[in-house]
Amino acid sequence: MDCHVHYSSPGGPEWIARFTDPLPEISMRAVELAETSLRSGVTTARDVGAPEGISIRLARAARAGEVRAPNIRAAGTWIAHRGTYVSFARLFKEAGELRNAIKTEIEAGADLIKVALAGWNEGARPQDAPDIPFDKKLLAVAVEEAHKAGFKIACHANDAASCRIAAHAGVDSLEHGMFLEAQDLEAMVKNKTYLVPTMSVWDAMLYYARAVDWPEARRKRAEDLRQGSRVAVTAGIKAGVKIALGTDAGGGAARHGRIAREAELMVECGMEPRDALIAATSSAAALIGESERGTIEAGKIADLVLLDANPLENIGALRLIVDVFQEGRRVG
Ligand SMILES: [Zn+2]
Repeated sequence: MDCHVHYSSPGGPEWIARFTDPLPEISMRAVELAETSLRSGVTTARDVGAPEGISIRLARAARAGEVRAPNIRAAGTWIAHRGTYVSFARLFKEAGELRNAIKTEIEAGADLIKVALAGWNEGARPQDAPDIPFDKKLLAVAVEEAHKAGFKIACHANDAASCRIAAHAGVDSLEHGMFLEAQDLEAMVKNKTYLVPTMSVWDAMLYYARAVDWPEARRKRAEDLRQGSRVAVTAGIKAGVKIALGTDAGGGAARHGRIAREAELMVECGMEPRDALIAATSSAAALIGESERGTIEAGKIADLVLLDANPLENIGALRLIVDVFQEGRRVG
């Protein structure tokens, strides 16, 4: 299971620009990317943000068997404060608008709510505005509104200030979490908040930094993310934070179909191979709310991946996919 994908973008060095491609192109590509993901062994995926609610439509098509795709839980469109996150998110300015945005996503058919805390985009910050306008109070409103409706809420946080807010807010999952500090991790344990580290993001960035010869400042940022992420994940493992695997394929430079890489990075941060597998199966299922999936047991749905080597000995064995089974049917 991959708890953090965006099938509306292919990833790559200019991933954000791909979200604003013409809608027909995004839609067709999403179908293709979901199939790529399935063939790489992802039988369930959480799509945590797409323009125009494309992920909701894709999840429905997958459920109806119209396309070959993982079982998808879709967040619909990201919700963010005006002027901060991507412009094609659903944007709000105050609490009332935020509540309405959440209701609109639920009415549109979202399976969960995704909010993005972020600093202001360049030149968008009004005078005297706080660094992170989607603050503690507004996030509490979002958590309350989502939970009241029986929905889980995932929160994007990839800078120290956002991480501090998200870790203490009681969200169901904190996405990315670069620069999480000890007291944040403690709060996450207490709040039973999952960390979805998405380390594939900086890993892919550093690949493109070399392959496409990125400018120095951009490469430096990727290196800072790597450092911040490794420190946080290593400390999170030690602190006993619940961790679920997510790649951010499409939403960062990471491409789809490479879930094995994320598991390898988790092991590099000190996780036992067994625990990396749990992060990608039963823990992911618990976070997503898939009680009939995530473990191999009588009576559960038979989503299975057959490998050519033992991943408990070498986590890289996840790359050696022989076959994929979805609900007992061979689809690989
Ligand atoms: Zn993402």
